[in-house]
Amino acid sequence: MGERFSVRPKIKSGESLTSFLLRVCIDNSVSIKELFNEIKTSYKQPDLRNAHQIDFNPLNTIDVKLLVSLTDLDVNCLNLCTFNGLISHFISCDETRRLNNSSTLIKDLFTVKKRNFCPGCLQENIYYKLIWQVKDILTCPSHNIPLTSLCPECGKEQPYLHMNLAEGTCCYCCSSLTKTQNFHINNESLMYSQWLSNQWDDLAALNPATQTKQIIIATKLLYVCGNLNKHFSIQRGDNISRDYQFKLLRIVANKSPDEYGIGLNILLRTLWRLDYSIKDFFSITIPLNFSNSFKSMF
Ligand SMILES: [Zn+2]
Ligand SMILES: [Zn+2]
Repeated sequence: MGERFSVRPKIKSGESLTSFLLRVCIDNSVSIKELFNEIKTSYKQPDLRNAHQIDFNPLNTIDVKLLVSLTDLDVNCLNLCTFNGLISHFISCDETRRLNNSSTLIKDLFTVKKRNFCPGCLQENIYYKLIWQVKDILTCPSHNIPLTSLCPECGKEQPYLHMNLAEGTCCYCCSSLTKTQNFHINNESLMYSQWLSNQWDDLAALNPATQTKQIIIATKLLYVCGNLNKHFSIQRGDNISRDYQFKLLRIVANKSPDEYGIGLNILLRTLWRLDYSIKDFFSITIPLNFSNSFKSMF
């Protein structure tokens, strides 16, 4: 079967794994269904309707080893062309296997049912970047135009995976998707979007030695929200709600029902409001006094 993939494209800068798979199909004249048949695991057939899972949890969705041997894809690329690298900073391999779209860790973080794209980028080079699926990243940093999932002609939302996407055309009316569209984005969403796209690489490239255990993140958040005060007290203010502080306290006390109770989406928004970069936040050292100061509360 490897013969079918005699043309082996190289993954492009920032490209998502599903976009790469589309190009493998086009270059080798096979359909996405045929490709799925080739790379299915012994217990699971990838499902077109849930194709996003390939970009989120490839190890759980497809036979990665087989894909690597069929396409010459560098296995180290997998962390870059899927969200697996990011997710693996926060939870173990075992927990990753149980992860789904409604898991607290990644809730509301990614767009999963539709394909986002930058018409300007598609004009230059037809492939789909992984970062476009981050829900709160709303514009393309290279072209400074809104990302969209809509066809400029028929207005229909493009699905996550469809052969037409590989040609840069609408899955319903076959019009080109490269025509720039204008959407109004409110100022706050735009500012957050720009902050997030600047932070994203740092988040994805966190050093493996970085402490990302949720107890440590929750403690740091409480420390940062309290203006680095060495004694903890529940804060009032716009940056963090009382409810969220109590949730963080439950996590620190190990009483949170979720395996990973800190949603990345809320963590990122909180850091933005507090004006902390990813790098600054993860390099904070928590004073021992601070950790001791709320032990009495448990
Ligand atoms: Zn662009
Ligand atoms: Zn269309």
